[in-house]
Amino acid sequence: MNLLPFIKQLDHQPNATRRALIAEQLNELNVSYIEQPYATGTNLVVNLGRAGRKIGVGTHFDRVTDSGGANDNGSAIAVALDIIRRHQESGSAAGVRVFFFDEEETGLKGSQAYVAQHGTQDLVGLLNLELVGMGDKLALWPVEAARQGPLLSAFEATARRQHVGVSRFGQLVTNTADHVSFRSAGLADAFTITCITDQDVAVAQRYFEAMTQQAPLPALYELLVQAPLFRHYHQPTDTYEKLSEAALAMTSVAVWDTIQTMQ
Ligand SMILES: [Zn+2]
Repeated sequence: MNLLPFIKQLDHQPNATRRALIAEQLNELNVSYIEQPYATGTNLVVNLGRAGRKIGVGTHFDRVTDSGGANDNGSAIAVALDIIRRHQESGSAAGVRVFFFDEEETGLKGSQAYVAQHGTQDLVGLLNLELVGMGDKLALWPVEAARQGPLLSAFEATARRQHVGVSRFGQLVTNTADHVSFRSAGLADAFTITCITDQDVAVAQRYFEAMTQQAPLPALYELLVQAPLFRHYHQPTDTYEKLSEAALAMTSVAVWDTIQTMQ
């Protein structure tokens, strides 16, 4: 299933249009969804499978003003829709809740509004997707070496079984994404998944070394843009043709197979 054509549709569109395009896809898949309006935005939430505790799959659909919004976070939206399609086609009973959050980029507002209203009691954990359209391995963050959790373990075991490189990062330049709202609300087994390359890892190491040496901000930025992951990050050039179907498919299969092993 090619996901890039849908990401192309999302590129540079206003957030409300991006949300409407997701709703259109859900209608085409014959999947019902819940709209959760809050003070400044609206989330979309999809429940799949049997009732009871569910595995959360998180994405945000808003983009930084002026950014194309393809890898951040059209890639995650496309993968989440692919997970929904796989669930529908397989007739799986696995309990899954897919989130399309509003206003992540302006302070995690959508996910905060969700946990404030619904809490996290009925969730097993959260696989939050950020920038999953470039690269050939998976980064889990912020996940320190000592961190444990059933969903975390299942995801790592699944990726290894698929011969997909998977590494933990205490920090991936930033620490912030929608997993923060869920962890703050008491869901410990919540983490973010990002596709990366070896070059990204090498640059990240040099970046943190430069930070400990208190390098000036412009120097840090120069360093950061040497990483493919950050070259177009929050830029107008974050557009669909920079992404690869292989990275999107790798993420989708890893998430889907994890969901199935958690049943
Ligand atoms: Zn993002």
